[in-house]
Amino acid sequence: WSRLASGLARTASSLGQGITDLVSKRKLDAETLEELEDVLIRADLGVATAARIVEAVGKGRHDKMIAPEEVKGLIAAEVEAILAPVARPLMVDAAHKPFVVLMVGVNGSGKTTTIGKLAAQWVGEGKKVVLAAGDTFRAAAIEQLKVWGQRTGATVIAREQGADAAGVAHDAVTQAREEGADILLVDTAGRLQNRAELMAELEKVVRVIRKLEPGAPHAVLLVLDATVGQNALSQVEAFTRIAGVTGLVMTKLDGTARGGILVAIAAKHSLPIHLIGVGEGADDLQPFAARDFARAIAG
Ligand code: GDP
Repeated sequence: WSRLASGLARTASSLGQGITDLVSKRKLDAETLEELEDVLIRADLGVATAARIVEAVGKGRHDKMIAPEEVKGLIAAEVEAILAPVARPLMVDAAHKPFVVLMVGVNGSGKTTTIGKLAAQWVGEGKKVVLAAGDTFRAAAIEQLKVWGQRTGATVIAREQGADAAGVAHDAVTQAREEGADILLVDTAGRLQNRAELMAELEKVVRVIRKLEPGAPHAVLLVLDATVGQNALSQVEAFTRIAGVTGLVMTKLDGTARGGILVAIAAKHSLPIHLIGVGEGADDLQPFAARDFARAIAG
C-alpha cells in the first residue's frame, strides 16, 4: 500500500491539491460543484465518473462548508465502487499445462517488462516458465527478454529479428510442452499504426498456439501505459476488437499524474483489471486492489 501510494503520489497530489484549493474556503454551491467536476475531468477520471462523484458529494450538502478530507473520502468511496467489480487477480489455472498468456499492447507500453516481472514472480513460486520473444520487430525487445530470462531462470525462445512471430510462438509452445512448463508468456509487437498488419499477425500467432494447444491462449492481457492518459481508452477499444483481450495491466503508475485514466476505463469497460506496474524492477508489479487504488488516487 505504501509503495502504491508513493507510486500514485503525483496523481494523488494533483487531484488532492485541486480539491483542497477548491473546497477549503468555499461553500459547496453549484459553482463549486461545477469546478469540482472540472478538476475530476482534468484528472482523467472521465466525464461520466466526474458527474457521478459530484452528485454523491453534493447530495445533502448543498451550500454547506465541507472539509477537503471529507470530499476526498467521498471521492475514494465512489471510485472504489467503480473499481471493485473489475479488480480481479490474474488466476493461473493449473489444469492447463502450459497456461498460455498472450501479451498485447502498443510499443513501449511495458509488455516485455511486465512479462519479466511475471516470470520473476512465478519462477520465485517454483513454477516452470517459458518466454516467447514474439516481438520480432525490435531487436531490443528480443534482447530485453533474454536478459529477463537470465535474471529469472525462465527459458527464452527467440528467433532473429524480422522472423515470423507465429514461428516463434510455435517453437515456444512446443518447447513449453516438452519441458512440462507451467506457464508460457508470449510477447508480441504492438504496431497499432498498421492495424490490418497487426491484426493479421496476432491472428496468426493465436491460430498457431491454438493448433498445438487447443483452448489457448488462456489469457490475453492488454498492457496500457498510464502516462498516455486518454489515449489508453482508444487502445482498449482497438485491442479488444483485434485481440480478444481478457484482462488489463496498467504500467507506469509511478511518476505520472494520470492514474485517473484507470477509473475511466473501469467505468466504461467491464474488463478485469489484474495488475499494475509501479516501476521498472522485478518487484514493481502489484495485484490491482480497488480500495487501495481509490484511496491513493483521491489524495
Ligand atoms: P514494450 O514495447 O511494450 O515491450 O515495452 P517495454 O517493456 O520495453 O517498456 C518500455 C519502457 O517502459 C522501458 O524502459 C521499461 O523499463 C519502462 N517500464 C515498463 N513498465 C514500467 C513501470 O511500471 N514503471 C516505469 N517507471 N517504467 C516502466
